Amino acid sequence: MTSSSTKVALVTGGSRGLGKDMAIQLAQKGFDVIITYQSKESAAKAVVDSIRVMGKKAVALPLDVSQSSTYEAFVAQVQDKLASEFGNDKIHALVNNAGTGVYAAFESTTEAQFDEMVNIHLKAAFFLTQKMLPILSDGGSIVNISSGLARFSYPNYAAYAIMKAGIESLSRYQALELGNRKIRVNTVAPGAIETDFGGGAVRDNKDLNAMLAAQTALGRVGLPDDIGGVVAFLCSDDAKWVNAQRIEVAGGVNI
Ligand code: NAP
Repeated sequence: MTSSSTKVALVTGGSRGLGKDMAIQLAQKGFDVIITYQSKESAAKAVVDSIRVMGKKAVALPLDVSQSSTYEAFVAQVQDKLASEFGNDKIHALVNNAGTGVYAAFESTTEAQFDEMVNIHLKAAFFLTQKMLPILSDGGSIVNISSGLARFSYPNYAAYAIMKAGIESLSRYQALELGNRKIRVNTVAPGAIETDFGGGAVRDNKDLNAMLAAQTALGRVGLPDDIGGVVAFLCSDDAKWVNAQRIEVAGGVNI
């Protein structure tokens, strides 16, 4: 196949929140974009439309990252779309973003909640990435989304935060082992951002919002467009010498 010279980025969980902003800012940076959604197909289609208006190619594919048995079929679907819609046979950037949290005290977190976090966060970053390797271009890049909660601790986030800590460690191993293919791997760790995450608590609970803002040097919580530009930068050649780094994008929280 004659490959298009436009690079393709794949963002999991691109229908809303941080992933939506990453997808749009990647398109602004010149990428064609594949996003995934779990349930919100119409929101995902709206993101695709707004990227197409910018003159870039985009498609949305369904994916439940907690179902690792579906990863192989998903990769085959990506390969089909690359050929049919993008005139390409590789993706050049993979952003492991999709995910939800669990808000539960250590004392009462159930094994089911714990396993859900393993499946959504650790298994996706590990095995979806592994299955993507044959269609990830040499010289490409991976960004894994962590959380400030992997560095500092708030009550009731144990099961969630330790998965993010695992992702940060995994990123370094991926960077080490994929360096021979010139693939860069970095972690972005957002602070608290106003999205639907956690039932939209950071956005909708004014007391929580004010408490988090007070702990942040820049005096507010984050917004989705605080994050997407950093991810797009890391996926681009501007960051060609940035590798195996954890970048906290949080306005200076708990410093
Ligand atoms: P969000 O607004 O709730 O959006 C979540 C996205 O992930 C949606 O696109 C959703 O798809 C998708 N998704 C959820 N569960 C999924 C699953 N099992 N399989 C596949 N896709 C799934 O959340 P967000 O704030 O953008 O969070 C994005 C990432 O940033 C997460 O990894 C989160 O841990 C991390 N993060 C968030 C914050 C924060 O304060 N918001 C802070 C630090 C880190 P549908 O729209 O189809 O449901």
